[in-house]
Amino acid sequence: MQVPPKDQTIPEDHSTGVRRVITGLGASGGIVIGRAFVLDRQYIQVSRKPIAEDAVQAECKRLHDGVSESIDQLKRLKSQSSTADSAASEELGFLLDAYIHMLTQSRLVRGAEELIVSRKLNAVHAVSEVIDAIATQFSGMDDRYIAARATDIREVGLRLMRCLMGETDRAVDKAPKGSILIAEDVSPADMARFEPGQLTAFVTALGGAEGHTAIMARSLGIPAVLGAADIIRGVSGGDQIIVDGGRGEVILSPSEADIAHYSQRRTDWLAARDKLASLRDVPSATRDGVDIDLHANIELPIELSAALENGATGIGLLRSEFMFMNKDYLPDEDEQYEELADIVKRMGGKPVTIRTLDIGGEKLAVALQNEMGSGPNPALGLRGIRLSLRKSELLEAQFAAILRASLHGPIRVLIPMVVGVHEMTRARQIYEAVARRLRKDGHAIPETLPPLGAMIEIPAAAIAIDTLSRECDFFAIGTNDLTQYTLAIDRTDDQVAGLYDPLNPAVLRLIRDVIRVAGERDIPVSVCGEMAGDPRYVPLFIGFGLRNLSMSPVNLLPVKQRLRRLDTRNSEHQASRVMEQWDSARIAMMLDDFNDLA
Ligand code: PEP
Ligand code: MG
Repeated sequence: MQVPPKDQTIPEDHSTGVRRVITGLGASGGIVIGRAFVLDRQYIQVSRKPIAEDAVQAECKRLHDGVSESIDQLKRLKSQSSTADSAASEELGFLLDAYIHMLTQSRLVRGAEELIVSRKLNAVHAVSEVIDAIATQFSGMDDRYIAARATDIREVGLRLMRCLMGETDRAVDKAPKGSILIAEDVSPADMARFEPGQLTAFVTALGGAEGHTAIMARSLGIPAVLGAADIIRGVSGGDQIIVDGGRGEVILSPSEADIAHYSQRRTDWLAARDKLASLRDVPSATRDGVDIDLHANIELPIELSAALENGATGIGLLRSEFMFMNKDYLPDEDEQYEELADIVKRMGGKPVTIRTLDIGGEKLAVALQNEMGSGPNPALGLRGIRLSLRKSELLEAQFAAILRASLHGPIRVLIPMVVGVHEMTRARQIYEAVARRLRKDGHAIPETLPPLGAMIEIPAAAIAIDTLSRECDFFAIGTNDLTQYTLAIDRTDDQVAGLYDPLNPAVLRLIRDVIRVAGERDIPVSVCGEMAGDPRYVPLFIGFGLRNLSMSPVNLLPVKQRLRRLDTRNSEHQASRVMEQWDSARIAMMLDDFNDLA
């Protein structure tokens, strides 16, 4: 393989292309004009370490698994591109078919297998040798069309090598400071690896607006467009582009008029953001004086300052799984304690709700890969409390770290993906046993243990909420998964993104009923899914009787602005009118009308 350039520097504008607008899902608002860094186009450093004689069979299997994964990726891209409505998408579809063909019983795969068997090359080395051989042959041809296929075979080969080497080798951290990242896909774990200020925006070909990548983009205030299939062609590293994260648009080769227009819009957007900052220290209360707690959701410690700057009165959801990503080991009790204690101290006495591990689905941890297997339907698989009870030493270490951190400030402990009361009973037994063990070992922990509560994000838990009240000190409604599981819509799948509808009356009934039952039984309840951060839905929640909302830090001030104009009685009236409706489009209209008036 050729000597790799270490990273793509961002040269002066060399784009000579034709202006094009690519559309995707507006996942995180904001406008950025900048230069592209294209992930995954860099060359790969190939290890030349040979394999042992008895490892040949396993290496061939690894090759074939890598081939299957590459084909799956290409098929996903193809089906995503078929939803985009342009001539370019049709052309992209043909190209992706050709790529799939190159991986199906082709010379590439056969040749690599032969090299593994005959010369004991490792799979990545074998693939790189075959690609070099085929590409050199192609590029030497007189026919310009065939010569150009050398680029395609390298493209396919690099994809296969990346699959063989695993996600952790992606060079996400190579994106130069201030760049706009262009990638086929960005995982939540990738997001956790960006340095603050490294990216000004990002655009991906795959991904839904409700997945954790999108949530983190909003949380970090990075404009993002996801599910823009056409982006994988037509952008080169260093091209000047414009990203409009609110509208889900990317402008390639922008004209001077575009630059002027979007610069003005960016100035307006920043001014609107600054104006909201004046709300930071005003009380978060409705017009008729009802206090509403506005908490922040965070994934990483770096988001804490944004939470405080935007006036959060607590952390309503700390997604602890992000402490487990990008590590090839499981952080032990002490390491977890240090990280949590730091967050609790920095919150200076404001409450922190720590959720136990919710790995699984799209959130992956290398160190837990073997435990989780690769079920056909990860969102319905071993995740959240199911995994923690199966591997109870994980839960014990987490509980111990959390209990020790609770000495530094008020904490609540939240259990994810609860289906029924039996899981909470078992979790509480473990919680109390860990507390006894800590006391016995001489650790100072509070006399009264911090409250233990459940995420209400699976319809079964919401429907049988009265049974859960026996074992829960509080509830946090997770509208992201509640919508996903109620409607059977994968929240990360761009193909069905348009069907993901939190205003579906079935979802709203579940939310309303949980809030009602919690109120009747005097159990604190909050909403911590993405709905909580959308100002349009605030009157509905207030009308349902909710008094605690937790959201991405960037949404705190827009939500505060909204609720300060509301009257609770009027909101109750509007909420009951909404709940008479069966059509979510009509519900959206009613909320818009109400928001215009109030
Ligand atoms: C939810 O499901 O609404 C939630 C807050 O949890 P997560 O988004 O982390 O799954
Ligand atoms: Mg969830």
